[in-house]
Amino acid sequence: MKIFISSDMEGTAGIMHWDETEKGKECYAYFSNQMSREVAAACQGAIEAGAEEILVKDAHDSARNINPQMLPKIVKILRGWAKHPYSMMAGIDETYDGVIFTGYHSAAEMNTNPLSHTMNTKNNYVKINGELCSELMLNSLTAAYLGIPVYMVTGDRGLCDWMKGKCPGTTVVPVSEGVGSGSISIHPDLAVDRIKEGAKKAFEADKKDCLFPLPEHFTVEISFKDHARATNGKWYPGCVQTGARTVQFEADDYMDVLKFIYWVL
Ligand SMILES: [Zn+2]
Repeated sequence: MKIFISSDMEGTAGIMHWDETEKGKECYAYFSNQMSREVAAACQGAIEAGAEEILVKDAHDSARNINPQMLPKIVKILRGWAKHPYSMMAGIDETYDGVIFTGYHSAAEMNTNPLSHTMNTKNNYVKINGELCSELMLNSLTAAYLGIPVYMVTGDRGLCDWMKGKCPGTTVVPVSEGVGSGSISIHPDLAVDRIKEGAKKAFEADKKDCLFPLPEHFTVEISFKDHARATNGKWYPGCVQTGARTVQFEADDYMDVLKFIYWVL
């Protein structure tokens, strides 16, 4: 079994402030360590479930957050940005049997994580076919595009609940719950235990219940905080400016959506 893990940070147990996610800032060392522990737990659970190959994509900010020494020996890690429209999923291809997301967070405009955002903090929201789009949605669609099921998601409760509505077979491990600009989190050691246990059992699920639904047509809408970004975006081929701050893009092929997001968002 060959597993791909994409790891973000704003859904790590206890995290609630941007300073905690930024290299060099106060408390970053603690939270990058906890992120590494949670990724390692997902890897260990997957190995106990039969994973023989695991590629971890460090997918937060600098993409240099996870301590590779803390991961099991069979794990490979993609650090840094591959400059590929797959972005947080760079390194994946159709040879993988399953995907796990760790440390993921709610979408921009969702009030279920104090650090809610979609890809960056320059937009009010991203929507696909009228639905608020999280990074989890973008990346689960990438997995579905390649025919790969999503077996586990860890992060904030709002995102986990949303995922259950999309992929009923996917194991979710909520480690925190947003309350205004704060969050209530379970103990960091309990988060690690639950993530490991979750990954151990996640692969027993039916593949078809873990495949994210892939639409036949995509209408993507972005609302930017700064109107000039919409003015800039309209020059992307096929992108239409629909308001002072909003742009829209239509495609049938999800790769075209990923390229649009990569260049315009
Ligand atoms: Zn992040």
